[in-house]
Amino acid sequence: MSKSLPKRSEDYSLWYNELVKRAGLAENSPVRGCMVIKPYGYAIWEKMQRILDDMFKKTGHSNAYFPLFIPKSFFSKEASHVEGFAKECAVVTHYRLKNAEDGSGIVVDPDAKLEEELIVRPTSETVIWNTYKNWIQSYRDLPLLLNQWANVVRWEMRTRLFLRTSEFLWQEGHTAHATAQEAIAETEQMLGVYAEFAEKFMAVPVVRGVKSPNERFAGALETYCIEAMMQDGKALQAGTSHFLGQNFAKAFDVKFATREGGLEYVWGTSWGVSTRLMGALIMAHSDDDGLVLPPMLAPTQVVIIPVFFNETQLAQISEKAKQIKQALEARNISVKFDDRDTQKPGWKFAEYELQGVPVRIAIGMRDLENGTAEVARRDTKAKTTYPFENLETQVVNLLTEIQENIYQKAYQFREVHITKVDSYDEFKNVLDTKGGFVLAHWDGTPETEERIKEETKATIRCIALDAEAEEGTCILTGKPSTRRVHFARAY
Ligand code: AMP
Repeated sequence: MSKSLPKRSEDYSLWYNELVKRAGLAENSPVRGCMVIKPYGYAIWEKMQRILDDMFKKTGHSNAYFPLFIPKSFFSKEASHVEGFAKECAVVTHYRLKNAEDGSGIVVDPDAKLEEELIVRPTSETVIWNTYKNWIQSYRDLPLLLNQWANVVRWEMRTRLFLRTSEFLWQEGHTAHATAQEAIAETEQMLGVYAEFAEKFMAVPVVRGVKSPNERFAGALETYCIEAMMQDGKALQAGTSHFLGQNFAKAFDVKFATREGGLEYVWGTSWGVSTRLMGALIMAHSDDDGLVLPPMLAPTQVVIIPVFFNETQLAQISEKAKQIKQALEARNISVKFDDRDTQKPGWKFAEYELQGVPVRIAIGMRDLENGTAEVARRDTKAKTTYPFENLETQVVNLLTEIQENIYQKAYQFREVHITKVDSYDEFKNVLDTKGGFVLAHWDGTPETEERIKEETKATIRCIALDAEAEEGTCILTGKPSTRRVHFARAY
């Protein structure tokens, strides 16, 4: 392995960027704000996709695909939607290039100007609701439960690999319903799916809540979200689920004949998670030696490394290693046997640590004689010697234990980083010294939220769904408040 990673305690941001690059997850592209997702990073994303896709299907959704380009006029149909996205849209104006007449290279052909400019989708509500108009006529056509896996473009000014990029990969669910209650139930159900995915598979505990009006999705009546806590005490919005009311149905004239013979606008939802989840996964668990991946999302769950000095030894160790590999694979565990003779075992140990492989099994000649293997876990770095007999069962149990331990560690960290405060001074002090979620009373106005953001860089991450009713006074204005909200500095 090359030189060691920067330390989290010294420069968290640099640590993150270096880790993403050195672990082979992603790198910057020639276009600012865009990224190349490398095979190892993509393998983790594929696992996330597969699990989420199964969860969407189990809750009754089907996949479809809508176009990348959206006519500009579609955007102006929903006023708050266009206002929210106008500042970050990539626009296609021409469809051809030509050789410059003065020979200076390739230029845009002015004769190939589009009659109507096209927007590269920042999100697909407009193009999808324009299509739903043709698909929905009666209550019999409802509910319509679709999802698409796609890329979107938002011209972000401050970008960071995975967490905030100008082009990102995501899924966007878009559903249509006959009643508000049904649409709200769908919005809440999908929030639950995201929370379950984050906690069970990513091992990242999340707060479920609703956004304040300032942070609401442009065009939604209510935005539900899951908020996670990173190791530097900053929050990260990890997923959103929007109740759209009848806003897009009205903008695109999507009505349905009711069972009772009336005509009504359709109710909508949309929900999405993106490659930002990769950033959350990396930032929540990894350490100064590299990635720490929860076994359920690790592309390789177990690596077997032979420790040998000549061909004969390798042949003997390989025989045993292959048996172990097979036995583990029979238990649905992904195993890599790294028998390369081009790298030393120590180099390999460090490399797989950097890549966050949850379990490493090392086998040398003495192990063969003793009938044992050395098993090391990535999360705690603890090593144990196990007999070959029943090794698979030990490893299967260990993987479960690692998954649980990683979650517990992140949970404990978050618990320590939730602080209740009752004054503005205390609020600022906690943000500067400790970070994390700060639970404080807020008077419910956008103006107060805005001033707090300007003065402290902290935003209301969410009003937690399980927030208890509690009389109090706003930390800034002293006006009455009925419950605390989650503030934090965030990515
Ligand atoms: P939204 O449509 O704004 O509710 O966002 C849907 C999902 O995409 C959320 O989970 C966001 O965290 C995520 N997201 C929004 N902007 C970006 C970005 N620039 N890069 C990566 N993910 C993003």
